Amino acid sequence: MFDRVALIGLGLIGSSIAWGIKANGLAKHVVGYARSAETRDKAMQLGFLNSVTDTAAKAAEGADLVILCAPVGVMEHLAKEVGPKMKAGAILSDVGSVKQSVIDSCGKHLPDDVHLIPAHPIAGTEHSGPEAGFASLFNKRWCIITPPEDANAAAVTKVQEFWAALGSDITIMSAEHHDRVLAVTSHLPHLIAYTIVGTADDLATVTKSEVIKYSASGFRDFTRIAASDPVMWRDIFLNNKEGVLELLSRFNADLSMLETAIKNEDGAALEAHFTRTRSIRRGIIEQGQDVDAPDFGRSKIDDTKS
Ligand code: NAP
Repeated sequence: MFDRVALIGLGLIGSSIAWGIKANGLAKHVVGYARSAETRDKAMQLGFLNSVTDTAAKAAEGADLVILCAPVGVMEHLAKEVGPKMKAGAILSDVGSVKQSVIDSCGKHLPDDVHLIPAHPIAGTEHSGPEAGFASLFNKRWCIITPPEDANAAAVTKVQEFWAALGSDITIMSAEHHDRVLAVTSHLPHLIAYTIVGTADDLATVTKSEVIKYSASGFRDFTRIAASDPVMWRDIFLNNKEGVLELLSRFNADLSMLETAIKNEDGAALEAHFTRTRSIRRGIIEQGQDVDAPDFGRSKIDDTKS
């Protein structure tokens, strides 16, 4: 599919893409760059790359496809470095969890003959780094492609085919819509998990050992989400500020409504609310986006690890 693919960032997502390219024979040469020599050495040792470089610019030279797989907050800096080195007709893509900020910050650093086609694979685990990746991470998971309005159609098709070859189901939407959808499905849930795990940790009346010992599925699932990479999530909230804040005010209103129902011992209101949320959960299972177990489907991913 490509002669040379450059992966800038070699953590969970970068290494999983590299393993997927290797497993499916999608490129003749995969070159990688990461900030630290330690990660670059580890990547070569693990064997998912053909070569590494010590700058992002060198990796991008001559590549047909360059994918930024670093935290959203460094995307602009990386695009500024790789853009001028990219060959005419090449594609710059990324995997960032926020999309409008990538288009706004990266597009302006690219020559006119380089195509910016952002993408976001909706797949992940709470693990980070080059050792965390595996080829089947994207299998049957959505990959959202968010081409800018004036995007080159052939380049969009190429990126679509690439993610389909990695096993993803593809959907295309505007970056703005993506950020609103992900604020609901991913960003707010992470914020809640970060809050609740921090709150439980701060409690004086319940000891830390009790929190850990009696963590039934509810709390345990939250701790799994709250273990996600701090830098990645810092950047997501800073770059989807409006989407998250808008939703947070709705969430606070709903929480107050439940608080009032508890205060007033309004069992009917509580039951009605919980019945509605239960049917949403059923819908997710029916669409094959999770298994019927309280672990967010992660064991399903781990089972297919290769
Ligand atoms: P990760 O495992 O923490 O890896 C991040 C990689 O980026 C590391 O190789 C790191 O290099 C490199 N990096 C960090 N700062 C850099 C810089 N200034 N210049 C060059 N490289 C830099 O993260 P990840 O989970 O793969 O996430 C990468 C991207 O994918 C993020 O934008 C995230 O929003 C998106 N994403 C993540 C998930 C998920 O569940 N994890 C899912 C979908 C999309 P060093 O190792 O040398 O520090």
